[in-house]
Amino acid sequence: MECDYCGDEARKTQGKLLVLNSGDKKFFCSGSCEKNWKNKRKHTHRKQE
Ligand SMILES: [Zn+2]
Repeated sequence: MECDYCGDEARKTQGKLLVLNSGDKKFFCSGSCEKNWKNKRKHTHRKQE
């Protein structure tokens, strides 16, 4: 599976699958990628408001 943050290929067992409230699924190769993605998302959201 491809990491939704950095785009690296990672094994399902190595990464983390996140299911959002909207039903979307996001896969991250590591906890730091998950954190970065969340930070980026928050930042983008704040920028839009
Ligand atoms: Zn990653």
